[in-house]
Amino acid sequence: MQKKQDINVVWFRNDLRTRDQKSLQDACQQKEPVVGVYCFDPKHYETTKYGFKKTEKYRAKFLIESVTQLSTNLKNLNITLQVEHDEPANVLKQLAEKYSIKTVFFQTEWTKEEKQVELEVKSVLTETNFIDNYNQFLFHPDDVPYDNFSQIPEVYTNFRKKCEKQSEVRDEIPLPEKRPEENLLDIKTEIPSLTDLGLEEFEMDERSAFPFQGGENEAWERLQHYFWDTKKLQYYKKTRNGLLGQDYSSKFSAWLANGCISAVSIYHEVKKFEKEIKKNQDTYWLIFELIWRDYFKYVSLKHGNKIFQLEGITDKNYDWGNSSKAINQWINGNTPESFVNANMIEIRETGFMSNRGRQNVNSYWAKEWKQDWRIGAAYFESMLVDYDVHSNWGNWMYNSGVGNDPRDRKFNIKGQAERYDSNGKYQRTWLQDSLF
Ligand SMILES: Cc1cc2nc3c(=O)[nH]c(=O)nc-3n(C[C@H](O)[C@H](O)[C@H](O)COP(=O)(O)OP(=O)(O)OC[C@H]3O[C@@H](n4cnc5c(N)ncnc54)[C@H](O)[C@@H]3O)c2cc1C
Repeated sequence: MQKKQDINVVWFRNDLRTRDQKSLQDACQQKEPVVGVYCFDPKHYETTKYGFKKTEKYRAKFLIESVTQLSTNLKNLNITLQVEHDEPANVLKQLAEKYSIKTVFFQTEWTKEEKQVELEVKSVLTETNFIDNYNQFLFHPDDVPYDNFSQIPEVYTNFRKKCEKQSEVRDEIPLPEKRPEENLLDIKTEIPSLTDLGLEEFEMDERSAFPFQGGENEAWERLQHYFWDTKKLQYYKKTRNGLLGQDYSSKFSAWLANGCISAVSIYHEVKKFEKEIKKNQDTYWLIFELIWRDYFKYVSLKHGNKIFQLEGITDKNYDWGNSSKAINQWINGNTPESFVNANMIEIRETGFMSNRGRQNVNSYWAKEWKQDWRIGAAYFESMLVDYDVHSNWGNWMYNSGVGNDPRDRKFNIKGQAERYDSNGKYQRTWLQDSLF
């Protein structure tokens, strides 16, 4: 029997980029051919116990676009991306029948379902080496001033201040050199359509604040627009609570969630902007928000599965409701609060909602109506184009009184609408005039 050819694999999950890409760099330092693998795991498109599809059409479309572009960008480096609509363990097992996989490089994931998939992959590749890395952080876990995750503070400000003082953001990892043509292996790539994933095709609503496409190049185009062409970064803190239009905030979240761009890359561009154009509170504030993103990752590293449990990380027992009438009203924008309704219609029609909107509808659901906060989080998981397990469940706990908000605030919805939508333009955009 002919000896199988040695290869190394980069197993892509939430790190769909070539720049500042640790797994890719590590794999490219080896002499063996490098193959990328991405799997559209059927489990991600099933209906969950909460009755929602785990991934709805908005995020799935963004993901398809991101993977398509990753495939092109890897091809420019003479690297093949194998794409399959199957579970990672099956895909890698089949690849191992044809090639001898020496090492699989991948980004560390630690939440329950992601870990389970990793264990399944490891169980079928018993001869293979696995090397993972924390490439999704701004402050790398090895660089934060805590010896272990149990020391992560429960209050964001304490975490941020200590990291800002004692940690440094690492340099970007350089793009690997183009590999020789022989590196391109003859491997099937079949990117599924929305229909293949059991979802419906759709046209983007023209009112959407997030009309963007997935992919590494689009992420950088967005940064080019927001930082360098329009220089809107210098007003970010003043506009970030906006509700309408594309430019009130950076809109980086969906690319960050899929790893089309890294927080480290964005950080260094902010620093460059501060040097070349302007440095002020607004430019700093984008970094401040990126540290929030890190914080929720550390909270989930510290608390594990508690972030998915009803009592959250506080062990508080409230009397939570579970009313299907309430779910229907909230989801379809039929509550007595038009500001909540407008936001809920926006997410239903576009897969996006502003941060201000998210806080309000979350507070209304969990603190006004006292409904099981996990239903709201699961609905967001389904709909959001920028869904990220840590940011979503962490923010939901925070605004539901079972997370890291030391003040345990409840939003005054009418007051919020008056403050952030005083002329009612946002509400009119999403509600028929008769309903507003
Ligand atoms: C109930 C609820 C659920 C949320 N679910 C998600 C989610 O699934 N995925 C997600 O990326 N964000 C989530 N957020 C955080 C935040 O609303 C979005 O990151 C933000 O609205 C995305 O728009 P942007 O990129 O223009 O943000 P910007 O204001 O431009 O912020 C820049 C970046 O900072 C990070 N960031 C900003 N605010 C937060 C925050 N509160 N928590 C964590 N990171 C933050 C994001 O990566 C964001 O892209 C949630 C917030 C709430 C209140």
